[in-house]
Amino acid sequence: MPAFSLEPEQAAWCAELRTLAAERLRPLAEKGEPGHVNRPLVTELGRLGLLDRLFTSGALDLCLMRESLAYACTEAETALALQGLGAHPVHAHGTPEQRERWLPGVRAGSVVAAFALSEPGAGSDAAALSLRAEPEEAGGPSRGGALVGEAGDLPRGGASVGEPGGPSCGAPSVGESGVPPRASASVGEPGVPPRADASVAQPGVVPTGASLAAEADGSRCWRLSGEKCWISNAPEADFYTVFARTTPDAGARGVTAFLVPADRPGLTGTGLDMLSPHPIGALHFDAVPVTADDVLGEVDRGFRVAMGTLNLFRPSVGAFAVGMAQAALDASLVHTAQRDAFGGKLRDLQAVAHQVAEMAVRTEAARLMVYAAATAYDDGADGVPKRAAMAKLLATETAQYVVDAAVQLHGARALRRGHLLEHLYREVRAPRVYEGASEVQRGIIAKELYATLEARP
Ligand SMILES: Cc1cc2nc3c(=O)[nH]c(=O)nc-3n(C[C@H](O)[C@H](O)[C@H](O)COP(=O)(O)OP(=O)(O)OC[C@H]3O[C@@H](n4cnc5c(N)ncnc54)[C@H](O)[C@@H]3O)c2cc1C
Repeated sequence: MPAFSLEPEQAAWCAELRTLAAERLRPLAEKGEPGHVNRPLVTELGRLGLLDRLFTSGALDLCLMRESLAYACTEAETALALQGLGAHPVHAHGTPEQRERWLPGVRAGSVVAAFALSEPGAGSDAAALSLRAEPEEAGGPSRGGALVGEAGDLPRGGASVGEPGGPSCGAPSVGESGVPPRASASVGEPGVPPRADASVAQPGVVPTGASLAAEADGSRCWRLSGEKCWISNAPEADFYTVFARTTPDAGARGVTAFLVPADRPGLTGTGLDMLSPHPIGALHFDAVPVTADDVLGEVDRGFRVAMGTLNLFRPSVGAFAVGMAQAALDASLVHTAQRDAFGGKLRDLQAVAHQVAEMAVRTEAARLMVYAAATAYDDGADGVPKRAAMAKLLATETAQYVVDAAVQLHGARALRRGHLLEHLYREVRAPRVYEGASEVQRGIIAKELYATLEARP
């Protein structure tokens, strides 16, 4: 690809995706329940072959898909991206068995994935995630043994270890192993089963509680205990890529990635009601059993799995933002060209025309930086973390500016519930926070710049 434009086939593919998003995906998105996983939408993304592309093409293609879908259907864009985020660690680091078990369903859209890194006490500082666990011995107490106290002591969402779905390690009770009591009733209320019956939390109610912890014993079985928070697709996903602490006090070096099926005993969750309806929730791990078969990559090397995934997805968050900015810009062009004002049209006012020009310049600059960062990733070029951070930062901040300016140009109608810009105004805010807040991106960029300076002869 030249540095400044797409190949004609790529441009044509983007146009086709925008049409598909508007005509096939938008109607499905509108039928979805806000704040919940929209399974028909995910299935259709699979049927169209777009989920498959997540695993067969590179960062630039991912950006083109996200930008094009976002232009016409942000819900479809988000559903696609979340499948990629949750399943990329399996694709890149999973064993043949893990890949065979989970990836065909992800590709088809019949299996929903999620990426569970953030915790109530570890957001931007993800390496601070912590864990407590109980050692677990293969061939220990029988599989029918009580997991959390005696049967009936503590209501649980999932099946007991004696039921299908649990791994093959023994199961000492929580009482026996000294796991502290549950931190908070706000996540995984007693008696709330996982997934299907998880309820959307009340606005403003933020779950609190202990961080997630895991600890290995010689037989390489662990119990996960604690919480994850702000996890997209939770608690309705079919499996979670969970980052847990296997070595205490070791920072990023003591984290392991686990593939945790949603039906594991002790895993419960609840939905969270966000500014822009997004399938998202908190997860509570109550001595959830995992084994070496569930590890993604290597024990204590899970932070690499997380950062590798984020390096791939970071520019594509920028692409999502560019798609929204372009939609806002195009709506503004149409509106200002039609709207009567002061004996002419709004576009005749120089202040309005210059505002539209500024929006276009910034959107195009952000797009180019996103494409450049993605191309650098695909080429294995130097400086990918800096480029990815720059792209995500510029594009998400630009989209905020452009959408806000578009609202201003539209006046009151943009603020009416259901208007495209009202929707985009709510959608555009979160990407400046997730996958590394803007301030975190500036930190990455500055660190890389000074490292380059210090490396000079
Ligand atoms: C819609 C949405 C979807 C999400 N989906 C997922 C998901 O699927 N999986 C997942 O694991 N997480 C997910 N998250 C969580 C997201 O990754 C975190 O919100 C993010 O990492 C920030 O953490 P925090 O919210 O705890 O904010 P904090 O870490 O508490 O940061 C708050 C603010 O402090 C400032 N700040 C923080 N660090 C620095 C710094 N180093 N330098 C300067 N200023 C700083 C910034 O202004 C930042 O916004 C999602 C969040 C949202 C909103």
